[in-house]
Amino acid sequence: SDTVLEITNLKKYFPISKGIFAKKVHVKAIDDVSFSIRKGETASIVGESGCGKSTLARLVNGLIEADEGKIVFKDKDLTHEKENVWRSYRQPMQMIFQDPYASLSPKIKVKDLVGEPLKVHRPTMSKTERLQLVEETLDICGIGRHHLNKYPHQFSGGQRQRIGISRALVLHPELMILDEAVSALDVSVQAQILNLLRDLQERFDLTYFFISHDLSVVEHISDTIIVMYLGNIVEIADKQTLFHDPKHPYTKALLSSIPQTHPKNQREKIVLQGEIPNAAEPPSGCKFHTRCPMAMDICKKVRPEMQTIEDASQVACHLY
Ligand code: SF4
Ligand code: MG
Repeated sequence: SDTVLEITNLKKYFPISKGIFAKKVHVKAIDDVSFSIRKGETASIVGESGCGKSTLARLVNGLIEADEGKIVFKDKDLTHEKENVWRSYRQPMQMIFQDPYASLSPKIKVKDLVGEPLKVHRPTMSKTERLQLVEETLDICGIGRHHLNKYPHQFSGGQRQRIGISRALVLHPELMILDEAVSALDVSVQAQILNLLRDLQERFDLTYFFISHDLSVVEHISDTIIVMYLGNIVEIADKQTLFHDPKHPYTKALLSSIPQTHPKNQREKIVLQGEIPNAAEPPSGCKFHTRCPMAMDICKKVRPEMQTIEDASQVACHLY
């Protein structure tokens, strides 16, 4: 089928002990989340820190196990598979993190950093073949041959992320999960890395699952945008629809905080009141009601269901 990743009614609750009597409380980090990603597309999850997006990334990569629901990668249900099965899927499913320096060992040369995943996943490959593939891959990612014997600290942040991407790409993945992959970089470097990712996507038919707190970062790379708030998806739409006709008040607020350079594009500024609530004690009904400028009586009592509007957006809000 055309679907690379299918997430259905996914739930992940983390138990925490609270107060002197250690009452068991659960943080509903992922609270009934469903979406799917088609081959070759970029789907982005956007939300403030604490909305559950990193938990979702770790669930999708099998680093933690879901409580309920389903994670299906290319028609294979991986939800409750054992670590050895997940491990075999970490070649087609690659994860890229925010700080490439933290995830790159400082004492290993670049050629070995990029060669290491090949040693693990393709142990029969000869040393010569491996080095050739490493060189080609780094070259494609904009790191020339003369850099092969250098160490990670000798590179800039943008170059280190190119090395991080090479490490993933060298295994010929189908799905790349990018968790705040450009968030630590300057805006101009961000744009270069996003351009590289776009080129790689076209060239190798990659599917991206992009995770970011910043809508302006995902604007240029996304086909589909998924907006999360406190463990729930509140809106899913294609990029054009989401940017030009956002439905959920939270999406509108996120969009209004993006600085617009052109006066014609100015959006009405919506300032959200208060902080994102404690996920261990989320508000009743619509979890956004404590900060929503449109909140009605029903919003405190009834959790809004996801519904499809105008065939273009899915939104969970009582206004619709
Ligand atoms: Fe606001 Fe109510 Fe819609 Fe929630 S359901 S976003 S509180 S209007
Ligand atoms: Mg995070």
